[in-house]
Amino acid sequence: MQKIIIIKYGELTTKKDNLNFFLKTLAQNITKTLGTLATNVYFDTGRMFVEAKEENISPIIEKLSKIFGIHEIILGYKDADMEMSQIKANSLALLQELTFTTFRITTKRSNKKYPINSMEISREIGAHILKNIPGLKVDVHEPEINFNIEIRYNEILYYYETIPALGGYPVGTLGKGLLMLSGGIDSPVAGFLAIKRGIKLEAIYFESPPHTSEAAKNKVLALAKILAAYNAEIKVHVINFTQIQEGILKNMPRDYLITIMRRMMYRISAIIAHKNKCHIIVNGESIGQVASQTLTSMKCINEVVKIPVIRPVACFDKLEIIALAQKIGTYETSILPYEDCCTIFVPKHPVINPSLEKCYLYEQSVDYEKMIYEAIKNEEIIQIKNTEDMEKFKGIL
Ligand code: ATP
Ligand code: MG
Repeated sequence: MQKIIIIKYGELTTKKDNLNFFLKTLAQNITKTLGTLATNVYFDTGRMFVEAKEENISPIIEKLSKIFGIHEIILGYKDADMEMSQIKANSLALLQELTFTTFRITTKRSNKKYPINSMEISREIGAHILKNIPGLKVDVHEPEINFNIEIRYNEILYYYETIPALGGYPVGTLGKGLLMLSGGIDSPVAGFLAIKRGIKLEAIYFESPPHTSEAAKNKVLALAKILAAYNAEIKVHVINFTQIQEGILKNMPRDYLITIMRRMMYRISAIIAHKNKCHIIVNGESIGQVASQTLTSMKCINEVVKIPVIRPVACFDKLEIIALAQKIGTYETSILPYEDCCTIFVPKHPVINPSLEKCYLYEQSVDYEKMIYEAIKNEEIIQIKNTEDMEKFKGIL
């Protein structure tokens, strides 16, 4: 018998026509993420398999538990010997290693040519186990050990240990999206949820040096790195927003600062998305959370772009978002106290129900198109990978 990691797909198997595309993408994502840890990755329509040296199995499971499109990870064994006597010997050898009192044998026979049917195999193996390990009882409803035997065409699989995984779709199967990534709690969670639906993300971050620091930027890059573990890699577009922000600050009534600033962010995001073949913008807006996220504000801000804006946490409350941030590992980094360009010039009383007419009027006072062009021309691109050791973020991670 050889130890093997078996992957179950779950929801993916409902994709009839393009199942193969989904599976190929999943296999690519797994191969890329595991790198040299795995010696072989292969699949059929029912299962994916990862072969590796014994010492690499734990780190591999750790990495697989962050890959979308995997429903369950199973630590199992395979054997090409398909004789009933060998199935008995293997099952006994594996179960003898464990401590338990109740069990069941579950047999799945995808190879319908195999001469003995599933029920019979389960019965015979069950009897063999009861005869050879004293003190056991069969419990088909709630057994301590559910021992699985899968009869395939060229091999038999044995397993009793399954680890639930993330589910969702393999990253990249739904195309690309651009995440507006700030250093806050909400946007990394929004990014995670988008990745879960199979979207490959690039990120955009607006900085306002010297009002925002290098540390604030590193914090955002650190968050991108955490997300990259789910996504394989993320390209971060860093946009210098200082000139635009100062222009707005100088020329516009204070209560409209945030509204206009966010309209500018949306305009830039839409252009960056278009240039990088991203089909949607994703952000961490949550309905009612702040003045710029009332329904009228959202409508007024959204009005500057045609590209769909997806807000995965729109209907979550803050506590739900925090719980998810903790689960995915972004929370500790998000709460580090660094300033964001959205917060440095926050007026005391931002408008809650902005009017479009006023936005048009105020925006006439700055040549924002030229400033947007400049900001995009000077974008800095940082490629974040999850494989390489990114020394410079160590201090803040
Ligand atoms: P977060 O929402 O990420 O917790 P926040 O609450 O401070 O941070 P908001 O002011 O609520 O941010 O902004 C709403 C959304 O706008 C953010 O979730 C994020 O998607 C986007 N955003 C805000 N600031 C920036 C920025 N500096 N760069 C890129 N996107 C930003
Ligand atoms: Mg927020």
